[in-house]
Amino acid sequence: MNKKSIRGMAVTAAVMAVLVAGVCFYSGIKPNQAAGKQVMTDQVSHQASSQAKIPAAGTQNPEMAAEPKKAEEQIIIALDPGHQGPEAGMSGEEEDGPGSGILKAKTTSGTTGRFTGLAEYQLNLEISEKVKTCLTDRGYQVVMTRENHETSVSNKDRAKIANNSGAKLCVRIHANGSESPESAGALCLVMSPENPFVGTLYDESFKLAEDVLNSYCTATGIYNRGVQTDDTMTGINWSKIPVIILEMGFMTNQQDDIQMADPKFQQKMAEGIADGIEAYISN
Ligand SMILES: [Zn+2]
Repeated sequence: MNKKSIRGMAVTAAVMAVLVAGVCFYSGIKPNQAAGKQVMTDQVSHQASSQAKIPAAGTQNPEMAAEPKKAEEQIIIALDPGHQGPEAGMSGEEEDGPGSGILKAKTTSGTTGRFTGLAEYQLNLEISEKVKTCLTDRGYQVVMTRENHETSVSNKDRAKIANNSGAKLCVRIHANGSESPESAGALCLVMSPENPFVGTLYDESFKLAEDVLNSYCTATGIYNRGVQTDDTMTGINWSKIPVIILEMGFMTNQQDDIQMADPKFQQKMAEGIADGIEAYISN
């Protein structure tokens, strides 16, 4: 074979690799199905891209820009769906901050929809899963502190999972309850600047809280009660990364409760939260 035909074959191979990558990306067929064997999504895309890098092609592959980010390039986001089901069965106490000497319950049961009967721990997980889908679709990696109702994780455990995950930030997903059925709307909780454990995280946490809360309230029309400080939250006081609690609405208010239980409305909630996280990251 002469040099010209070798070059021709290499170009053909590169074009085919581009086509394979294009089919995987645009057809909606999972890459492992398209490739006809059980391999991870990342491995297939890496395989396709290494074929596309045959030097003889000599041109930039336009599909490369759309290639999913490799795991090591992805920004990691921690999501903490608040509370857990009664079957998790965790009891006992833990310090509310490193060396604080103040003991608080490892877990609490959360509130319940006064009109829908939905438990807060269920709502928190439903929304967190939808936020996870939004973020992973946008190329982020998401770490969840729990993905079912049976997992026993204390508030301190949740902070440690987020700390050790390599996440850039942690969003804790909760819903509110009140004696007064009139109380409505969303708010964010962050530590104060004077917090002895995590006061240095205040500035970044406050920015994150503003971005998430404003975006969430714009997306849903839920009343914005603003960002508030609270230094008694175990899951915040053990954090090493910017962290917020989003109280998505009041499950004891008729409008908030009924809206938040509706799957279509939940999608708006999730997109609002994901948009806010992305706004924070891009600033
Ligand atoms: Zn809660």
